[in-house]
Amino acid sequence: MCGIVGYTGSQEAAPIMLDGLRRLEYRGYDSAGIVISGDGGLRLCKAKGYVENLSNLIGGGALMKGGTGIGHTRWATHGKPSDENAHPHISYGGKIAIVHNGIIENYAKLRDMLIAKGVQFKSETDTEVACNLIQYFYDGDILKAVSEAALRLEGSYALGIVCEDFPDTLLAVRKESPLVLGVGKDGNFLASDVAAILQHTRDVYYLDDDEIAVVTPRSIKFYAAGLVETEKELSRVDWDISAAEKGGYEHFMFKEIMEQPEAVRKTLSPRIKDGRVLLDDVRFDPDYLKSLSRIYIVGCGSAYHVGVVAKYNLEKLLRIPVEACLASEFRYASPLVGDKTLVICISQSGMTADTIAAMRESKRLGARVLSIVNVVGSVIANESDDVIYTWAGPEIAVATTKAYSTQLAVTYLIGLYMADILGTITKDEYDALVRGLLELPSKLEKILSSKEQVQYLASIYFNKENIFFIGRNIDYALTLESSLKLKEISYIHSDAYAAGELKHGTISLIEDGTLVIAMASYTQLIDKTVSNIVEVKSRGAEILTLTTESGVASVAHTSDNIITIPDTHEVLLPSLAVVPMQLFSYYVALMRGCSIDKPRNLAKSVTVE
Ligand code: GLU
Repeated sequence: MCGIVGYTGSQEAAPIMLDGLRRLEYRGYDSAGIVISGDGGLRLCKAKGYVENLSNLIGGGALMKGGTGIGHTRWATHGKPSDENAHPHISYGGKIAIVHNGIIENYAKLRDMLIAKGVQFKSETDTEVACNLIQYFYDGDILKAVSEAALRLEGSYALGIVCEDFPDTLLAVRKESPLVLGVGKDGNFLASDVAAILQHTRDVYYLDDDEIAVVTPRSIKFYAAGLVETEKELSRVDWDISAAEKGGYEHFMFKEIMEQPEAVRKTLSPRIKDGRVLLDDVRFDPDYLKSLSRIYIVGCGSAYHVGVVAKYNLEKLLRIPVEACLASEFRYASPLVGDKTLVICISQSGMTADTIAAMRESKRLGARVLSIVNVVGSVIANESDDVIYTWAGPEIAVATTKAYSTQLAVTYLIGLYMADILGTITKDEYDALVRGLLELPSKLEKILSSKEQVQYLASIYFNKENIFFIGRNIDYALTLESSLKLKEISYIHSDAYAAGELKHGTISLIEDGTLVIAMASYTQLIDKTVSNIVEVKSRGAEILTLTTESGVASVAHTSDNIITIPDTHEVLLPSLAVVPMQLFSYYVALMRGCSIDKPRNLAKSVTVE
């Protein structure tokens, strides 16, 4: 999920790689490393911390001479950030070194297989498994070894590989994680992101899934399945560096919105095997789960909103009282926490001060804490009893999108896992939900492919100064997040209301032309929401309604405009419904000329109470 840059040519490789890694720093990472391949074999330097730290260790590159090498910035997913877990990894035979972005889903099985053959491991990473697997297949033909290993790797990966026996050659293979090859004047390049090599070349090849590239100073060759050599078309990159950092998009927020199908897939798919949810990361004793009298979900901002969705869903699935709490309130509210309470803490950074305090207080009171965290090895991840990582990759924009979506995805997994143990879900319901989960990424793609429609709606409404969001049940939970997203980045005042609650006061604020965004994806209550839409419409409100394909007929006559999302299992609706609202906020903020990635007064990770 983080950065790769490789070079082979007539120049010194190390300074080129350090420079490339610096250009990838914006992505966020926790450790960095470099391997140089040359007559002296493979030489390695890697360390936890910044690229600057790595650079100091190797004298700015001067201490690692050689024209061929690969560098990496790691964003830990498997194993804490540490020197040992940093990339590159060297194989047990010492011949092969690799760097890796992504996740090898079947690493545990492959590691067991290799251990049974006597292979010893030095790190906790999934990456070292891929490295040793290549070594395992290596008999002098490195291309064949890489191909054999790739055939057995499941998950998402971009691998950069060097082999001691071919000192001026880099190999690359990928699946669902990007890699480009750059053609330079005095050498060729390999990178996970064009931003890393743009100062050297604009002529690149984009590697396709399951293709292998073999890069030498004078050639780049491509091999498809079965090791058939293929021709590829050279592309010319015309982005500037800042656009390249954002994958060609204008803002990180937009890039991260677009990354959601992949992030959700990465978070879900390693944890669903043969139609079953497997949470290897947590071990709940069935008796403990059965003894639970209450679950608290604790978070701040969007993480709290994930908790509100999960409250509705988990209560439905588990038949246990579930409360979503703001971390800053929870701690001082004398919560009813004890050994029969499970506290679920949600935090992207794992560093949120209020959530850390709530977690510590819960533990002090005897509760078990399960956390949902994006940053491996962070405080919350380290101190909670169990942690389930979201594999969203680094999130740069202050307004969260892909972290929210992956946190939500994890709450579904928890619901299914616990409901199964508690016996509160039928087999049919379980299977239907798992099917729904597996279809989420493609449905997210479908929504994103019609983003222009949301852009058009934003152009109609971007100069409103007051917007109300209404919805019921999970749609209400969604209004909280939609309203926050809009406020955070567009500075428009907006409010989120349970649709049935509006008439108890706030309806007095509705006047001619007030925009009301009605979330009406939850079909069970759609008619009730329609009644509330009618109430505000008859007081002059303009109505933008979000609903599912099957809900359109129910809302058509009362809405001025409609956003449609695909149908899915009702528990999963918020995952789809949130995306058009993120896009709406984004486009509105763009049209209002706001600073989207760094909104005023806000910080990405709030480490103060
Ligand atoms: N899964 C690998 C690890 O944890 C790669 C992480 C990355 O993409 O940086 O080491």
